[in-house]
Amino acid sequence: MISVNLNAIRERIDAELQKAGRNPGETRLLAVSKTFPPSIIQEAYDAGQRLFGENKVQELKEKTPLLPDDIEWHLIGHLQQNKVKNAIQNAAWIHSVDSEKLLARINRIADELGAAPKVLLEINISGEASKIGLVPDQAEQVIESGLQGPAICKGLMTMAPADATESELHSIFAGLRKLRDKLEQNLGRKFPELSMGMTADFPIAIAEGATIVRIGSAIFGHR
Ligand SMILES: *Cc1c(COP(=O)(O)O)cnc(C)c1O
Repeated sequence: MISVNLNAIRERIDAELQKAGRNPGETRLLAVSKTFPPSIIQEAYDAGQRLFGENKVQELKEKTPLLPDDIEWHLIGHLQQNKVKNAIQNAAWIHSVDSEKLLARINRIADELGAAPKVLLEINISGEASKIGLVPDQAEQVIESGLQGPAICKGLMTMAPADATESELHSIFAGLRKLRDKLEQNLGRKFPELSMGMTADFPIAIAEGATIVRIGSAIFGHR
């Protein structure tokens, strides 16, 4: 039952926040609905869930018209340049900005559409070679390059390697938080959002300051 799973996750999030000495509600639950049909997403919606994440623009575009308008859609997967328009038209948030060029295109198209997408820079904290994402040193320059555009940079996102140990996970998630703190100091602006933590590692991400956890299989089951 989706509602049972959702309630269990919500309770776990609250418990982890309390354990970390953080306030209730400081971490929002993004339900990652990729590969699941609209009927299942509707079930989660009926159980009160409003934030949903998809990793493919095509799938996002097919699902949004079939579901309630007050869902806040987040694109969490890699975004190709030629899909930016569809991404902006269907998602309020883009978690996967991984180059200056992509941010420039998001800004240009958002401007044409009169949109103001919320964006996060995807950072490759662990330095894992195969992974997409900006290296931490590039983040400041990318944010600065986009400051004039309509996209609103809300913070940072990262994905930890599936085989990371508990102590590696702590250092990856703490690393994202420290990078955010440094950017706030250097740029004199707030970047409040840290999108980090999935089914396997979200308790650690919450301990390290996650404001959005992206959880799929613990809610919807195996893909
Ligand atoms: C699929 C996905 C998730 C959710 O993963 P689960 O292990 O099912 O919780 C989170 N973030 C991204 C970027 C994903 O692609």
